[in-house]
Amino acid sequence: MSFTLANEIIEELEHNGFEAYIVGGVVRDRLLERQTGDIDIATSAMPDEVQRIFSKTIPVGIEHGTVIVRHGNQSFEVTTFRTEGRYEDFRRPTEVHFHHSIEADLSRRDYTINALALDRYGSIIDPYGGQDDIKHNLLKAVGLPAERFKEDPLRMMRGIRFVSILGFEFEEETYSALVENAYLLKKISVERIRDEFEKMLCGEHCEHALDLLEKSKVNQHLPGGPFDLQIYLGKYRWGSLKSIEERWAAFLIRNSVEDANEWLRVWKLPNQVKAKTVLIVSLIQGLVDCASMLTIYKYGLDVLKSVLRVKRFLGDELELEEEDLETLHTQLPIKNRSELAMDGNDLQRFLKRNPGPWIAEYIEQIERGVIEGKIENTPSGVKEWIEEWQQPQGKD
Ligand code: ATP
Ligand code: MG
Repeated sequence: MSFTLANEIIEELEHNGFEAYIVGGVVRDRLLERQTGDIDIATSAMPDEVQRIFSKTIPVGIEHGTVIVRHGNQSFEVTTFRTEGRYEDFRRPTEVHFHHSIEADLSRRDYTINALALDRYGSIIDPYGGQDDIKHNLLKAVGLPAERFKEDPLRMMRGIRFVSILGFEFEEETYSALVENAYLLKKISVERIRDEFEKMLCGEHCEHALDLLEKSKVNQHLPGGPFDLQIYLGKYRWGSLKSIEERWAAFLIRNSVEDANEWLRVWKLPNQVKAKTVLIVSLIQGLVDCASMLTIYKYGLDVLKSVLRVKRFLGDELELEEEDLETLHTQLPIKNRSELAMDGNDLQRFLKRNPGPWIAEYIEQIERGVIEGKIENTPSGVKEWIEEWQQPQGKD
């Protein structure tokens, strides 16, 4: 993401008589010298004026004041300074009010560390002491914490994920408001909670975030709950996990969740993520031997590398490394059933038998034999094995 391109957009808005700033998480991440996501811009220009000034725009949320501006092949969300009106049903604000001042816009933001704006000369606008809170690793709500959490309870989950990602702590009053208002999370859709929870699972300080979930009793109000968490500060290295499936698997196993599939169904995970997570969990709980050729053939490298990482995360001392798996994988005689030297038709011809369920049974045996190195994967190798295999059967 390019600050130079963002500043070119800001310059253009200023030439047209408007104010504009880089705002939100990206300013926070810059001060923390962290990699950052999308660059958001806030401006005094109304959405129709933004559309008039720039040639390539996408009206993604005009009613909330947001227009995407395409510039130098990148997308920038440009949002009119606004405050939010009442929230109905704890979803989205029912009305927004547009403003002329950046300060008003910053007042609607959740935490002081996110209520920062950056002008194109590098000066920071910081009406709530966000820079100071960044220095002290503090999460402090903008304004009255209890009111802000009542307005939008999702902010509590956002705070917990910032604990996990940034290693910050809740400031005292904000923490009290978290404890008091945790029950309001029941009003938030599973999908929105899940998205924040997954971001939490991706943080290096996830164990601290889980500890906070438990202490504040927020975990009693999450989907599928109430559930208890066992916390082992300092024991788990969440940063060593590589995919969301590995993180879910680690979370489920270490918290002794009995039915992983059901848990993930309640949390509305997409089917693919759910299936892969459940597979990782079941392979670990089934004590699968990752070094067996048959296992490598059947489940593939990707899933087994995940199994290794989660096992290591859970404290297993493994001799097998991810590179060993790769070496074993290259040694597989076939990677796929279609590579077998004889297929169903060949078998029928060779054995002069009519088609039937016997074919699948034979193929499965041959496949297993080839993978385990007991059958040579050539037509003559397979035929030799069939002849031997049929002998004892014929005698029965
Ligand atoms: P990330 O690094 O994950 O993008 P972020 O803080 O930038 O974190 P976004 O969801 O991109 O989070 O939101 C951008 C900004 O919008 C935030 O920094 C914050 O100022 C504001 N914001 C987002 N969600 C809320 C909310 N629920 N209530 C108040 N302000 C919010
Ligand atoms: Mg962001």
